[in-house]
Amino acid sequence: MNNIETILFYFTQMEIKEADIVIIGAGLTGLTLAYLLRNSNYNICIVEARERIGGRIYTSYKNDLASIEIGATWLGNQHIYLKKLLEDLDLDIFEQELGKKAIYEPSSLSPYQLVTLPPNQAPSYRIIGGTSKIIEILLSHISADQIINAEKVIALQENGNYLSVETDLSSYTSKIVVSTLPPYLFQSTVKIEPSLPDELQQIMESTHTWMGESIKIGLRFKTPFWKAKESSGTIFSNVGPIPEFYDHSDHSSNYFALKGFLNNSYYSLSKEERLNLILNQLKKYYGSKVDDYLEYEEKVWRLDPLTYSDYRDHVIPHQNNGHRLYQETYLNSKLFIAGAETSTEFPGYMEGAVRSAYNIFKRLDIR
Ligand SMILES: Cc1cc2nc3c(=O)[nH]c(=O)nc-3n(C[C@H](O)[C@H](O)[C@H](O)COP(=O)(O)OP(=O)(O)OC[C@H]3O[C@@H](n4cnc5c(N)ncnc54)[C@H](O)[C@@H]3O)c2cc1C
Repeated sequence: MNNIETILFYFTQMEIKEADIVIIGAGLTGLTLAYLLRNSNYNICIVEARERIGGRIYTSYKNDLASIEIGATWLGNQHIYLKKLLEDLDLDIFEQELGKKAIYEPSSLSPYQLVTLPPNQAPSYRIIGGTSKIIEILLSHISADQIINAEKVIALQENGNYLSVETDLSSYTSKIVVSTLPPYLFQSTVKIEPSLPDELQQIMESTHTWMGESIKIGLRFKTPFWKAKESSGTIFSNVGPIPEFYDHSDHSSNYFALKGFLNNSYYSLSKEERLNLILNQLKKYYGSKVDDYLEYEEKVWRLDPLTYSDYRDHVIPHQNNGHRLYQETYLNSKLFIAGAETSTEFPGYMEGAVRSAYNIFKRLDIR
């Protein structure tokens, strides 16, 4: 066989899998939707590009050390859909420890100060065991053969009553497709035929992916030296490069860490260069103790093409989130556009992702 015959042979032999609903993306939106549909008669298939499941939820676990949230961490009492889901999944939360005081660095012209924090009237919470516990428990409710990972969706095509879903490895045909990708990523990385309406394409092109540019950093320590009387693990700095840092010890206070954000503009440095900058800033507050860190963790989300893709034009945070066009269906009612950014309430946050899944579930049920 020549090359062309080999390729044609390969395509004719390729199995096309059939589903009632293909969900693109196994992040919080995709998995919550699959969880809600678990008792339905729909034949569901979730196609996820990464080896790892969870998307922007990503807890780094290390034996006998504090786990570090590289992605989503906090929720609040106003996040009622997420709280209800946690309750259903039997997961508990605990309050983020801020301490009574914070290290505050107002400008590079004045030294840092220890300031008294006002009482925490709207506490933030973390999930006991790590945010990835939600993903783990959702997964346990979904049959393993419904999840295909390490396959990237590259194209969607309408064929009569069905949509063809092409990945870099195989093909699916489905009555309904639900994209849970951040809308900008969906628009810029998945080829769709026939084209979606121009207005929708423009909205997706100018919808910001929440936290897509962020750099999460964490340091594990043997002892929580920042919990001393005239110190704090809470840092707010206008000088940087760390603008915010928090105590990140585990719920039982057995394992200790500090975690927060590095200014987004340091994405092009090497890991070692970023670490040096971080240690230098922390040494100002804590002295040489910071050199005794056990492990450094970081994730530069901007460099992850399955979350972030460079915008063609300037896009401001939360721009077009929850837009009315995300509440409609496309390709003759066969394509739904979901994901945290499409939610009309708390878009971009875990609460937005869960609400988006509930919204699609409701709309599928009444079809
Ligand atoms: C650093 C950081 C900190 C955050 N902190 C918080 C916080 O403290 N509190 C909070 O509420 N929220 C926070 N968030 C936001 C929260 O993580 C998101 O709202 C939520 O996880 C989004 O879930 P999602 O399923 O809608 O999208 P995603 O998690 O982005 O899921 C989309 C999935 O699609 C997959 N995918 C991408 N392209 C393809 C393709 N072509 N084919 C197949 N699959 C594909 C991705 O791999 C991913 O798994 C944070 C996010 C980040 C990055």
